[in-house]
Amino acid sequence: LHQRITDKAYGEKLAALAESDLCRDPHSDAGANVRQLKRQFDKKTKLPEDLVKEQARLSILGQQAWVDARKNNDFPAFQPLLEQIVKLKREEAAALGFPEVPYDALLDDFEPEEKTSNVARVLAGLRKELVPLVAELVDSGKRPDNSILKRTFPIEAQKAFGREAAQRVGFDFSRGRLDVSAHPFCGGSGPHDIRMTTRYSESFFSESFFGTLHETGHGLYEQGLIAENFGVPLGEAISLGIHESQSRMWENLVGRSRPFWEFHFPLAQKAFPSALGDVSLDAFYAAINDVAPTLIRVEADECTYNLHILIRFELEQALVHDELQVADLPGAWNEKYKSFLGIIPPTDALGVLQDIHWSGGAIGYFSTYSLGNLYAAQLFDQAEKDLGDLATAFAYGEYHALLDWLRDKIHRHGRRYTAAELVKNVTGKPLSHEALMTDLKNKFRPLFGLA
Ligand code: ZN
Repeated sequence: LHQRITDKAYGEKLAALAESDLCRDPHSDAGANVRQLKRQFDKKTKLPEDLVKEQARLSILGQQAWVDARKNNDFPAFQPLLEQIVKLKREEAAALGFPEVPYDALLDDFEPEEKTSNVARVLAGLRKELVPLVAELVDSGKRPDNSILKRTFPIEAQKAFGREAAQRVGFDFSRGRLDVSAHPFCGGSGPHDIRMTTRYSESFFSESFFGTLHETGHGLYEQGLIAENFGVPLGEAISLGIHESQSRMWENLVGRSRPFWEFHFPLAQKAFPSALGDVSLDAFYAAINDVAPTLIRVEADECTYNLHILIRFELEQALVHDELQVADLPGAWNEKYKSFLGIIPPTDALGVLQDIHWSGGAIGYFSTYSLGNLYAAQLFDQAEKDLGDLATAFAYGEYHALLDWLRDKIHRHGRRYTAAELVKNVTGKPLSHEALMTDLKNKFRPLFGLA
C-alpha cells in the first residue's frame, strides 16, 4: 500500500494538476481533491520504507502484547514494545518534519493541519473551568439514583428501542445496518452501506442506547457525504475530531437532553414497563446524567470524560518529546489521575493499560475525542442560533431541522475545508472552550442542586 500511495508517476500527475488552472481555487472540487491527495502523497513519500514496514510489524505485535498485558495486569510485559513504538514515532515525526514540535507531525494523521499549540491552548481553557466544575458537582453531595438504569432491560426490547431512535433521528436503514460487536464502531464499504454496531447488557440501559446514538451520529455523517464523491477527499470526513463532533452531538447534546426524553421517556416506559414503570422523567433524566470521577475513559460521563483526555494528551506529548520514559509511564499516569480526578487506579489494567490506541501506534489520537466535544458544542450553539427553538422540536420527536443543518453546513462538504476553516466558516469564530463549558455549567449545576 505504501509503495502504491508513493508511486512516482502518480506524484508527478498530482503535481501537474496542482499547478493547473483547475486547481487555482483551493476550495473548488478539483482544488480541494488535489490539494488533499497531494498532501497525503507528500507526507507519505517522506517516510522511509523500512520505517513504514517496522511500524506495521510493531503495531500487530504491540496489540497482541497489549491484550495479554491488560489481561494479566502486567505492564512490564508490554513495556519493551511500547518503547519501540514510541521510538519509531519520534523517527516518524523527524522524517515528516513539523511546524513547531514533533507531536504536530503525529497529530496531523488524525486532525489534519491542526497544531499541538492550538489544541493545547483550547484544552488549557477547558481544563481551567472544568476541573473546578467537576469538584463543585462532586462536593455538592447530591447524586442521582442511577440504580434505575441497572434494572432488567430485556435485550430484544433494547434492540427495537435503539433502532427506532436511530431511525427517528435520521439514520437511513435502507443504506445501512445496526449489528452487535464486542466494541461498538461505525464503518462500512461506502455511502450506501454504513455499518454500525452496538453491544447489549441486560442489566445496564445506558451502554447500548447511548452507544447506539453515538454510532448513529457517526453513521449520519457518513450517509451525509455526497455519494458521487466516494473515493476522493470530497467524499471523506474532515478529521476524527469533526467525526467525533457528530457522534457526541447526537449522543450527548441531543440524546442526554431533557427535551429528547420528554418524547422518548413515555416510549421507554412502554418498552421496559417493569424497569421504568415507577420511574419519573426527572429521576430518569438525572440518572442518565450522573457525574462522578471514575477510572475508565470509555465509561466516563459527559463532564469527567474530557479530564481523561487531558491526561492522555499531556502524557503523549511528554513521551514523544522525550520528557517521559515508558518505564515511568504507569507512575506518571497514576499521578495525573490523582491530580485531575482525585482517584488512583489500583492496578495498571484499570490504569495505563486500559486503552488499545498506543499498542497499535496510534499516538496523537486522543485529543480528537475532546476536540469532538468542543466542536460539537460550538456547532450546536450555532445551529440553535440559526434554527431557533430546537428543544421544542426535540420534545415532539423531530430532528430533521438539525440533521438538515448538519448536512448543509458540514456533511456535504467532505474535506473541502480543514476543521479550523469549517468551524470558522460556520460559527464565525475559531474553536474555543466557551460553548462546551457554558453547556456543561447550564446543564449540570441545576441537576446537582447548584445555582
Ligand atoms: Zn466516536
